Amino acid sequence: MEKIDLRSLNFDELCAFMEELGEKKFRAGQVYDWLHVKLASSIDEMTNLSKDLREKLKSKTTLVTLKPVEVLTSQIDGTSKYLFELPDGNIVESVLMLYKHGNSVCISTQVGCRMGCKFCASTLDGRVRNLEPSEMLEEVYEIQKLSGKRVSNVVLMGSGEPLDNFDNVLKFLDLISNDKGLNISERNLTLSTCGIVPKIYELADKELAITLAISLHAADDETRKSLMPIANKYNIKEIMDACDYYYKKTGRRISFEYSLVSKVNDNLTEAKKLALLVEGKNCHINLIPVNPIKERDYKQGTTEEILKFKNFLEKKRINVTIRREMGRDINGACGQLRKSFITKRENGLEEE
Ligand code: SAH
Repeated sequence: MEKIDLRSLNFDELCAFMEELGEKKFRAGQVYDWLHVKLASSIDEMTNLSKDLREKLKSKTTLVTLKPVEVLTSQIDGTSKYLFELPDGNIVESVLMLYKHGNSVCISTQVGCRMGCKFCASTLDGRVRNLEPSEMLEEVYEIQKLSGKRVSNVVLMGSGEPLDNFDNVLKFLDLISNDKGLNISERNLTLSTCGIVPKIYELADKELAITLAISLHAADDETRKSLMPIANKYNIKEIMDACDYYYKKTGRRISFEYSLVSKVNDNLTEAKKLALLVEGKNCHINLIPVNPIKERDYKQGTTEEILKFKNFLEKKRINVTIRREMGRDINGACGQLRKSFITKRENGLEEE
């Protein structure tokens, strides 16, 4: 019989499981507390449970933990990048960013990605598999334990497409925001998607108070198709309609990510189109100067060009910011650290 992934059970499921084991209800609360507040990494740590119950749990369940294999910390702003090994040996990348308003963790939702965005390092070798809720939780939990810092915000903006791993991501959101667990408010959770339209509607219907970030990256379908294969499936109009629906259902302001790629989408004609697209919407635009990857020939424009783009939108009274580059000295684009680690491992090279 396959063992149960204990940390992926939500509170109700854990209650049902403990009942199946013939245990009293309050035991579920104790176990949940060990898993999601005390962040236990073994059943043996759960010392207020009887030895007999611990043995039962060990025989019927697995407790997923991630192992840090590399941690890089920026000397400039304290940003840390973590490479974690999953129980099956796969590697994922997560980031801790320290802001004045709190500590934010960026997590991966899949090993690799199958969306194929042209400028993104996470997708170069396709998708290996989805992450389990326990594995996404562990990205946050391990960072909290290793850094000694309380995590107040989580962004699903690492490797993977969250809406391509919908059920596990929903469960993760439930577990991380549960008041019996780490209790991170839904308002402090952000999910970023390349725009899988039917799933945006499905998410909206859950009426969660999480922020939806859309990777737009272009204001017309032709340019978008040249950067993102998903644009062949859903057009911008369909995405905007889904965003309107999300806003109507949740009242949450939509965030649009726009990676500025020199000579592709960063001139004023594009800025004008973008302004028209979001006119009158309660939204925020996050400009990301593209982070070049060696496998592709995309470049950043000059600072002057980037500011021109931003100023144009500002004059149109659009909320716009340029994403601050965190941890410049340890920087690599999303997924690049993982990729170079795997290449080194495959070649049998020692880690420096
Ligand atoms: N699959 C999700 C999360 C991806 S990563 C999504 O598509 O939204 C978060 C953001 O970083 C996305 O907007 C993504 O398009 C962007 N991104 C990825 N690689 C980048 C790079 N090299 N330079 C700039 N932005 C990048």
